[in-house]
Amino acid sequence: MAKDMMTAFELYQPADLGNALDLAKRFGEDGWMLAGGNDSLDWFKDRIKQPKAVIDLNGVAEMKGVREKGDGIEVGALTSLTEIANHPVIQKQYNLLAAAAGKVASPQIRNSGTIGGNVCQDTRCWYYRAGMDCYRAGGNTCYADTPEAMNREHCLFNADRCVAVSPSDTAPALIALDAQMVVVNGGGVEMIKAEDFFIGPDIDILKMTVLKEGDILTSVRIPGSWAGANFYFEKVADRNTWDFALVNVAAALKIKGGVIEDLRIACGGVECVPRRLTVVEDVVRGNKRDEEIANLAAGSASRGAVPLNQNHFKIPLMENLVKRAIREA
Ligand SMILES: Cc1cc2nc3c(=O)[nH]c(=O)nc-3n(C[C@H](O)[C@H](O)[C@H](O)COP(=O)(O)OP(=O)(O)OC[C@H]3O[C@@H](n4cnc5c(N)ncnc54)[C@H](O)[C@@H]3O)c2cc1C
Ligand code: SF4
Repeated sequence: MAKDMMTAFELYQPADLGNALDLAKRFGEDGWMLAGGNDSLDWFKDRIKQPKAVIDLNGVAEMKGVREKGDGIEVGALTSLTEIANHPVIQKQYNLLAAAAGKVASPQIRNSGTIGGNVCQDTRCWYYRAGMDCYRAGGNTCYADTPEAMNREHCLFNADRCVAVSPSDTAPALIALDAQMVVVNGGGVEMIKAEDFFIGPDIDILKMTVLKEGDILTSVRIPGSWAGANFYFEKVADRNTWDFALVNVAAALKIKGGVIEDLRIACGGVECVPRRLTVVEDVVRGNKRDEEIANLAAGSASRGAVPLNQNHFKIPLMENLVKRAIREA
């Protein structure tokens, strides 16, 4: 296969959202939204995805930047990960997101990569990325779920034919912050809770999010309800930079008088969607923060995990990340 040689496409550079929506509607499944291009160009250069029209969103000014909105903030989908990691309000009130954005890939990728692209990016399963005709590519087998397969990066929970995982570092942070995704299409504006934005193979094996043809994610809204909470983000990868998480954890805790009054916690790299750990939340809520509750949280985090041949290590890894999140947030 010829690499680094994109097939031809028509490039559209709309100057406002209305124009972008018209183009999205006009091209339907033949169109491709382009943000920072870090994921998109990989697909194009490998010739695995060959859209007829690329709709470059970078000229849509209203999708950029961080604004105060109600009691929280709105982050435009085209805001770069670097801007998010360095933004003073995000650092002060929602540092969980700043920490997660600051752990993505490398400085160059964070400079061009956007929050919208980061949550909409496709899975990194290498069989699929290599263009193999697996279930997710519309075929009838999974190359990663065999006794000989290389699947140490793959999932522990809720596999349904596909065992790939959600690769985003910012997605678990957005779930822990109870964010809402603002999705616009010809029919209007839809607000979708972050945890409902991502979908597993049981719902649609060809997609990672609820976005439909013609939909544009315009921004992410973070409510004030978790502003200034105790936060914890940790990512474990094979390398410290330029690498996807084997497992990451994002947690927001409200602690008063040593008691964890409320919390939200999510892990990436363990399921096809970022996994909200509601069982951990139920175990921990209302308890004093101590070693015993951190241990109980860890044990409950991995309940129901079904490891593949090469990823058993993810169970203790996930448990330890959850334990540290409860102990140290
Ligand atoms: C070498 C390398 C290492 C990486 N390491 C990490 C890592 O450690 N952690 C991590 O989280 N990510 C990592 N990434 C992924 C990278 O962060 C994402 O590729 C990037 O964030 C995607 O953002 P982008 O703006 O470049 O999007 P693009 O590549 O332009 O778009 C990605 C996808 O999202 C869709 N899209 C983008 N914006 C919108 C929108 N507003 N509405 C609808 N659809 C949209 C596009 O159509 C495309 O399908 C890595 C990528 C590379 C290449
Ligand atoms: S894990 Fe999913 S993406 Fe990877 S080969 Fe199997 S079906 Fe394809």
